[in-house]
Amino acid sequence: MDFKKAEEMLEICEKNGYSISQVMKMRERSQFETTEDEIKNKMQQAWKIMKESAISPTKTAVKSMGGLIGGEAKKLNDHRNAGKSIVGSLMSKAITYSMAVLEVNASMGLIVASPTAGSSGVLPGVMLALQEEYDISDDRIIDGLFNASAIGYLAMQNATVSGAVGGCQAEVGVAAAMAASAATELMGGTPRECTYAASTVLMNMLGLICDPVLGLVEYPCQNRNASGAANALVAAEMSLSGITQMIPLDEMLDCMYNVGRRLPVEFRETAKGGCAITPSACKLCDKCF
Ligand code: SF4
Repeated sequence: MDFKKAEEMLEICEKNGYSISQVMKMRERSQFETTEDEIKNKMQQAWKIMKESAISPTKTAVKSMGGLIGGEAKKLNDHRNAGKSIVGSLMSKAITYSMAVLEVNASMGLIVASPTAGSSGVLPGVMLALQEEYDISDDRIIDGLFNASAIGYLAMQNATVSGAVGGCQAEVGVAAAMAASAATELMGGTPRECTYAASTVLMNMLGLICDPVLGLVEYPCQNRNASGAANALVAAEMSLSGITQMIPLDEMLDCMYNVGRRLPVEFRETAKGGCAITPSACKLCDKCF
């Protein structure tokens, strides 16, 4: 069993009454000739790592190797715990945990690339926030991760998840599309609604460039993970409300890839454009090198 396009995946789901996570598990089993238990165990291990990386920096600030970030997750956590959040608990937790994972990544800690290290905060951020706010079991979250994997797989199959190839829209954009689709399934959406949510995110993050300051996957990467998580929740909320999208996921992936390949090289991880060449960032360059 296999699929290469979102529409093929949806056809399998809709014909058989399967969720995207079920179809993805079936694909994994058949492609890698393995058992359901084995793939679930691997995903459980990934979820354990995701959770640890999302939680520990909220208690103890983690300074990055490059020194550009560290302590942001704790600040956000303290802010919410003081009852001062202006965005509500779910959104606040999603952005806190997303930024936390980037602290761990930038300090050479253990994270799960989802789909990449630079965008590794979005999916755990959204999943953990939903789990805590809606009391979702680990087993259901694992299903969410399989759903997200299907979207990530489609992006790799038909477009790119590399900032060097397609800009940040391909890294954080795809991570947010994965999280939006997973959130939609976890909260009761249909497979098609999941793909609407993924499409919405790609549309809303279209054209986002990759411009890491000092060439380090720290800043603005960490901020972008927070905004990716927020975008994912916005898109899932829209989909679950019954808002449909005119442009299906397959077309949005093609569109994102086309835009990405046309981005000037300065905006594709070279640190030669965007935030990386602002006067403030350049002052840091002078200091560091
Ligand atoms: S700015 Fe570039 S390096 Fe940073 S998260 Fe986005 S794609 Fe990755």
